[in-house]
Amino acid sequence: MKTEILSPDASAIDRAARALAAGEPVALPTETVYGLAANALDPLACARIFEAKDRPLSDPLIVHLPSVDWLERIATPDDLALRLAEKFWPGPLTMVLPRRAVVPDLVTAGQGTVAVRMSAHPVFRAVAEAAATPLAAPSANRFGRISPTRAEHVLAELDGRIGIIVDGGPCAHGIESAIALVADGGIEILRHGPITAGELAEFATIRSAAHRGIATPGSLKSHYAPLTPLDLVGGLSGAIRENTGLLAWHPVSDVAGFAAIEVLSLAGDLREVAANLYAGMRRLDERGLARILALSIPEEGLGAAIMERLKKAATRE
Ligand code: AMP
Ligand code: MG
Repeated sequence: MKTEILSPDASAIDRAARALAAGEPVALPTETVYGLAANALDPLACARIFEAKDRPLSDPLIVHLPSVDWLERIATPDDLALRLAEKFWPGPLTMVLPRRAVVPDLVTAGQGTVAVRMSAHPVFRAVAEAAATPLAAPSANRFGRISPTRAEHVLAELDGRIGIIVDGGPCAHGIESAIALVADGGIEILRHGPITAGELAEFATIRSAAHRGIATPGSLKSHYAPLTPLDLVGGLSGAIRENTGLLAWHPVSDVAGFAAIEVLSLAGDLREVAANLYAGMRRLDERGLARILALSIPEEGLGAAIMERLKKAATRE
C-alpha cells in the first residue's frame, strides 16, 4: 500500500472522512500525539488498527468523540464524569467509564469499561465531525515504540501499512492524554498526562491506582521505547559517554565526550520538554548509538507524566 501525507485542507478532510467511512484507518494529528483512527463502532475497521500497529488485542483503544452528546451514547457517565468533561473537553483527558453495548469488544478488550475523550485538535475535530462517528485512535506507531509527534514520524512507523496521513504539524503537548478511571465519585489516574493530578484533585479525591485488573499502559513495563537501550540517570558524574546519546531536559554544562546531545528545553520548561520529548528520543535512536542516557526530571505536575514515559522507555522487557 502506498502511504500519502496530505496537507490539512478541506479536500484532505473529505478524503480522510471517506476513507474512514470505507473502514480504512487514517493517521490524524491530535493535540497529544498523532493517532491512527478508525470508526470505533465498526469492529472490522478497528481490527485494521491492530494489524497496522502489530498491537496485541489485549490492549484496548481510546474512543474519540465527534461531540459531547456522543458521550451518553457509548458510555454511562456519572455526575463527576460529566463535570470533568465540561471542564477538560475538548482536551487531553481520557476517562474510563462503564460502556454501552454498542461499543465493540475489540475496542474495550472485552472489558466492561470504555476509554473516551474528545480531541481539541482542529484537524482531528473536523475529520471526526465529517465522519460523524466516534473514532478509535491509539498512537500511530508500531506497538511499544515511540509515539509520533510529527507526520514524518508516522511515516517512519507505518509506511506501507496505511493509506493516508493528514499532516497537522508538530503536536502541542507531545505526550499522550491523561487516563482517569472515574468511578464511585472518585478518580484513579491510570496514566499521567498533560492534565495533571493537581488539576483533577480539584474535582474529586484521587485514589491510589488499585488497577482492579484493568488493562492500562501501566500494566506494560516497557512502552514508548526507542530501539537503543535507554538508561535514566540522576546526574552525569561517572557516566559512560563513548558512543552515548544524552537526552537532557534542560541545558547541562558537563557534556564533553557524548556522541550526541538533545536538549529538550533551553529554559527547562516542562511543557516544552513534553512537546519535544519523543522527537528528541527518536533523533537519538536514529543515530544507532550504543546507549542513550536520559536525565531524570522532578516528578511533580507534568514532570510525573514525563517521567512515567522515560521509565517505560528505560525498561527492556
Ligand atoms: P494509546 O495507545 O496511547 O492510545 O493508549 C491507549 C491506552 O488506553 C491503552 O493502552 C489502555 O491502557 C488505555 N485504555 C483504553 N481503554 C481502556 C479501558 N477500557 N480501561 C482501561 N484502560 C483503557
Ligand atoms: Mg500508544
